[in-house]
Parts: sequence; structure tokens; C-alpha cells
Amino acid sequence: MSKQTQRKLVIVGGGTAGWITAAAFARLLGPSLSIHLVESDAIGTVGVGEATIPQIIRLNTILGFDENDFLKQTYGTFKLGIEFVDWGKKGDRYLHTFGDAGLNLANVPFHHYWHRASQSGADAKDLWHYSLHQLAAAQGRFSKLDRVGNTAMTGLAYAYHFDASLYAKYLRKYSEARGVTRHEGIVSAVQRDGESGDITSITLEGGAQIHGDFFIDCTGFRALLMGQELGIGYQDWSKWLPCDRAQAVPSERLDSLPPYTRATAKDAGWQWRIPLQHRTGNGHVYSSGFTTDDAAHDVLMAGLETKALADPRPIRFTTGRREQFWSHNCAAIGLSSGFLEPLESTSIHLIQSHVSRLIQLFPQSANADAERAEYNRRCAAEFEQIRDFLILHYHQTDREDSEFWRYCKNMEVPVSLTHKRELFASSGRLGRDVDDLFREASWVQVMLGQGITPDGHDPMADAISDAQLSEFLGNLRTIIERAVGGLSTHQDYIAKNCAAPPMTS
Ligand SMILES: Cc1cc2nc3c(=O)[nH]c(=O)nc-3n(C[C@H](O)[C@H](O)[C@H](O)COP(=O)(O)OP(=O)(O)OC[C@H]3O[C@@H](n4cnc5c(N)ncnc54)[C@H](O)[C@@H]3O)c2cc1C
Repeated sequence: MSKQTQRKLVIVGGGTAGWITAAAFARLLGPSLSIHLVESDAIGTVGVGEATIPQIIRLNTILGFDENDFLKQTYGTFKLGIEFVDWGKKGDRYLHTFGDAGLNLANVPFHHYWHRASQSGADAKDLWHYSLHQLAAAQGRFSKLDRVGNTAMTGLAYAYHFDASLYAKYLRKYSEARGVTRHEGIVSAVQRDGESGDITSITLEGGAQIHGDFFIDCTGFRALLMGQELGIGYQDWSKWLPCDRAQAVPSERLDSLPPYTRATAKDAGWQWRIPLQHRTGNGHVYSSGFTTDDAAHDVLMAGLETKALADPRPIRFTTGRREQFWSHNCAAIGLSSGFLEPLESTSIHLIQSHVSRLIQLFPQSANADAERAEYNRRCAAEFEQIRDFLILHYHQTDREDSEFWRYCKNMEVPVSLTHKRELFASSGRLGRDVDDLFREASWVQVMLGQGITPDGHDPMADAISDAQLSEFLGNLRTIIERAVGGLSTHQDYIAKNCAAPPMTS
């Protein structure tokens, strides 16, 4: 397509959302679009968002990133899951891994066989005893493993931890090399077409005007175009997810690099620990309705395992979503579109999934009512599915040792979640939607980890004899131990393949 017929895409905001959007559009629709990104160093970015889920590998593959280079440049590490500490009750600990535990037999999910053995008293081990990811994480091991030996067991599914600011720089370099034009400046005014209400241009402080055919609002919590200009409302989900503040602080790196994120429940929220090559990311997410900023600060600092490298940075947010994700000729991507707190590291995934959906539905003409409606429908459903999964962590608890936990345990939850909990508690079956981001294995681990013990299991799991079941379980553990024994330590794997250079400050 010639330059004359190129349409102009204007992305406002250069945080993780802005630069992922720019990179993906440049890669996939580059020839047909002239892409401009406006950001302001004076405003800056939210500066957090360092843990991911495995879907990010798909994005990196589409962009053509070399994994080792990517991890070197972002001081990244590998992640096999999230360890939840003190959630169901104090003293509890479980890993929500990215993989399946055990092996399904005759299309019956493994946890039904495990349930049968554990309820009959034949096996006192927990489900995670049969998890490759759990054993690898517990031993601090990581290597690429597609399949376990010559069995049908899949290998290690993983994601990354990385430095959020270096990630945005990496994406920026990539995007600029593919023709994205960056403009530095603060957007001070927005112009609209008097008839259609579409955005026609933005004006920067100093007077420069940037015209566009389509605009993407990546201005973070400000939601400059979608919220402030177009007036699209926000659904507040704080009654289900009451945390509304965080304090984030970097600390020195951990001696060994655990290949997982840790989320430790606190009296009025929870604290994250994210291991990077050069430092550890920490943050305390809490509810201002149940604690003070000073108390939250003290909890954060007391929970650090290594020396703090800066003062904690406060962040405020409201969990929820925009009423619409695309309105007129403008879509909101990233924090401007809504926010689900970082308990399951889903925000970067939402950026990626919204970008890919927008590219699939990108309007070919001014009339895009059908595409817009479809985009809004699918984004809303995705937000709601993830919301329910997050609520499960808070609501399914025996904790009643603080006002916060009593509230979470006793609050009313969406009917969609109640149905899933009841079904699992009855028979270990899952009522997840087919397009749910979280796989059956994820729901099972979090339901069990939070303390639900199903009353029964799928009767199809009774098709094998007790002796066969016992042999099956024993063999599985042996195979898993053998596979984990063959993995490098996470530390050695990084040293060998993707060690970042020493930090120069
Ligand atoms: C406490 C916390 C922890 C999180 N942890 C995780 C995690 O572990 N994993 C995960 O996936 N996600 C996490 N997230 C979410 C993640 O940080 C965000 O999804 C991600 O950083 C994207 O942010 P953004 O680009 O939408 O907004 P921002 O980073 O805020 O960027 C906004 C951009 O807009 C620009 N801008 C704003 N106004 C103007 C203006 N008037 N003119 C010009 N430019 C403007 C700014 O300069 C900036 O470039 C976390 C979020 C929070 C709050």
C-alpha cells in the first residue's frame, strides 16, 4: 500500500500497553498503517508489571523475539507458577502452576484418580506430589522440557519475570526499528468531529497537532481519551476485590533465583515477591478500607527478604473495567481499559489479548459498528472470567483472623463463581467456560489449594482396580522425579543461556 493510502493510527501513552500495541501493529499491519505513539517522560509510567503468564510466549513469537536476548535485556527469569502462602488458612502453601498435575487417563482428569486414592486412604499425598512443576519449583530447577521422557506427559509450561521499565524500552526499540514514530509531549487537548463525535486529532502542550484515523488510549489510569474525553464509564468491582492500593519497592536480588512468583496473604491484602536477575520486585497490595498506608508500609518492609534499594512507591487503583473498550474511533488498551489486581499476573496478558483482538477486528471503513460490538462483547467476557478467578482466592478461605478476611469470606460473590465452586465441591467437576483464560488445571489447583475438598469424583475414575491405581500413582511420581533430576538449576540455566550484564546505574 502506498504512503498516500496509509491510514494513520495514533497511540497515546508509552507504557507497557502503548509499546506492546505499537510493536504488534507494526509487525502485523505495518504496511497499511502509519503508526504514531505519543508519550510524556514528564508523566512517566506506572512502572510495575513484572510477572507474566505463559501466553506471553505467543506474543514474543509473533514479534520474533529471541528468548535469550529478551531475558538478557530485561534481566528476566523464568516462572513456573505462583506460590500462594497463608491464603486458605495461615500456614497453608500451594503452587498454582502453569502445568497439569499427573496425567489424565481415558479422558478423565487426573485429579479424580487422585481424589479416589486420597479419600479411600490409599494415598495421603496432596495433588502437587504428582506435579512436575511443583517438584521443579521446590528444587529451584528449570530447563526447557517439551515432554516428559517418552510418556504422554507434557513438559514445563513457563512464563517470565522481567524488569517493567526495561521491557518497555525493549518494545520501543523494536517498534521504532519497524517504522513507529514516537512523539514526546503531553496531550493537552483532543479535537472531535462535530457530527460523528469521532476523534480527529490531539494537541500537545506547545501546540503541535497530531491527526489520526484511529486512536488507541494507552494513557494508564488517566484514561485520557476513553474516560475523560469520550466519557465512557467505569464498572467498579471493589465490593468483590476490595484491594485498592499498593506500595512497591525493589530489594536486593535473592541468593538463589526461585522460578516462581510468591504471593503471601497479609492481614488486609497480600505481598508479592518477584525474583529478577539484578533485584527482587516486592509490593504490598491492600485495601484502604481495612488498613492505613503507614501500617501497610510497615507490613511490606517487614516482609522483605533482602535489603530495600529504594523507598516504597504508592499506587492507587480501582478494580473494575470500562463500560466499553472501543467507542467511536478509539479503543482503550492497558490500565485505561480497566484493572484486575495483579494476583494472577493477568494485566500484560489482557493488553496482548486486546491488541490481538483489535487487530483481528480492525475497521476497514468508517462504519465499524459490528466489529466494535464484537470487540466490546469479547473484552467484557474476558474481564469477567478473570475477575471470578481472582475472587475465588479471597472468598474461598477459612481465614477469619482480621476484619479484611472476615469480609472476603462472607461477601456475596457473582453467581457465575458460586456455580463453579458448588460444582467442584460436589463432584470435583469444573464448570469453566470454553474460552476461559484459566485452564481446568488452574481452577483445580486453586480450588484445592484454597481448601475445597470435593465430596466425590467422576465415577469413570473407578474403572481401574485399586492395585492399578496405586501402581499408576507410584509410576507417575517416579517418572516426575527422574525428569526433574535431569533439569538444570534455574540459576545455572540463566547463567548459561541468558545472563544479563552487570547493572550500571
Ligand atoms: C500494583 C500493580 C502491580 C502490577 N503487577 C503486574 C504484574 O505482575 N503483571 C502484569 O501483567 N501486570 C501487572 N500490573 C499491571 C501493569 O503494570 C500494567 O498493565 C502495565 O504496566 C500497563 O500499563 P499502561 O501502559 O496501561 O499504563 P502506564 O504505565 O501508566 O502508562 C501510561 C502512559 O501514558 C502516558 N500518558 C498519560 N497521560 C498522558 C498525556 N496527557 N500525554 C501524553 N502521554 C500521557 C504516560 O506518559 C505513559 O507513557 C500491575 C499493576 C499494578 C498497579
